[in-house]
Amino acid sequence: MMTREQWLVNLESAVATNATAALAKPRKIAKILSVVQAAGSQADHLQSQLLDRAEQAGSGVPACRAGCAYCCVIRVATTPVEAIRIADWLTRNRTEDELATLRRELEDYNRAVEAEYFATRRPCPFLRADSYCGIYEVRPVSCRSYFSFDLSACVDHFQNNLPSRIPKLDDTLVFGRTISAGLARATPGEPRFVDLHRSVLRALEPGARERFLGGEVIFADCAVT
Ligand code: SF4
Repeated sequence: MMTREQWLVNLESAVATNATAALAKPRKIAKILSVVQAAGSQADHLQSQLLDRAEQAGSGVPACRAGCAYCCVIRVATTPVEAIRIADWLTRNRTEDELATLRRELEDYNRAVEAEYFATRRPCPFLRADSYCGIYEVRPVSCRSYFSFDLSACVDHFQNNLPSRIPKLDDTLVFGRTISAGLARATPGEPRFVDLHRSVLRALEPGARERFLGGEVIFADCAVT
């Protein structure tokens, strides 16, 4: 019988194989969008199974609800291909004025958190005024993998910056990281994991997507260390 570790190794390899094929040169945006979408759907499916299993085992149910965004003040790591997909989606779903405003908000946010990476309590610039995620459809695998089992711990975390006190299901985080690691292997030369807000701002720069499609490294200074 396959061990959990072997199963995770196989999962990462399968995601990496698909993503690497999708990024074969000449890179085509449609193939990249498709493979990142598939990885997100796979993450959603696996997370749903894990949460069902946890509930059946009496481990509780997630406190997460639409419009609850206490955790959307945490810095988010993503992968280069996810940043490309988010920027593509924003370009197709926001007006020029909205994009200009978003770029300014991302610049302000990145500047403000630079000196206080983990201390910031600033809301994610993608968060809407009604506390719904403004890029929900294309949000990174890392955001899809974070579930809290205690709302009061989230509130405490939000008010007092105590992330370790939030009861989470380790497996959803591990599975999410495994899928992200598979995606990251498709872009050798780029940092494996990049800061969500810096990388999307980079991908929104004029000509950035074309340079990425041409095989250039564009996220070198967006690495999460
Ligand atoms: S991308 Fe969406 S889910 Fe992730 S932190 Fe930002 S608002 Fe929250």
